[in-house]
Amino acid sequence: MTDQQVNEAAALRAYCRKRIKHIKQRNDVPDCKIKHQERKCTSIIPAEPISDQSVPVRFVGTLKMKTFREEMRKGAQQDFHDPSRCKVCLAKQAEIAMNFFIRNKCSQLQTQLLEEKIESHLYSRDTVCLLGELLQDMPKPSDDPCEIWRRLLKK
Ligand SMILES: [Zn+2]
Repeated sequence: MTDQQVNEAAALRAYCRKRIKHIKQRNDVPDCKIKHQERKCTSIIPAEPISDQSVPVRFVGTLKMKTFREEMRKGAQQDFHDPSRCKVCLAKQAEIAMNFFIRNKCSQLQTQLLEEKIESHLYSRDTVCLLGELLQDMPKPSDDPCEIWRRLLKK
């Protein structure tokens, strides 16, 4: 038996004793009344009123302590929200990671595409290519001189 249980038992015994005494007193009153009427006596000892305050303070204290301890125990047992174990939080994290990956990949591909376009533009527009394009329109030595003159005057 712990100290608390001893205290509780003692308090409970004290309370029960008071209660029993009160009930006995109440039962004794009619007898007392009759006896007093016979003797023409007016002083009747009234039963001691019993109220909530008659519960020993110590007993109330122990009960409060017990309730407090029980609440603490329940609080400690309660599950705290742990995002690393919560299914909803994990799903949300996965969704965010997926969105981030897609956005990152899109931007990477766009950059790559742009670089390829710039490169192809630079290669196709270098001096040799431009000269080649220019020479395509130039008259060839094998061309007919009359035709060359005609084309030149047309422009
Ligand atoms: Zn969560």
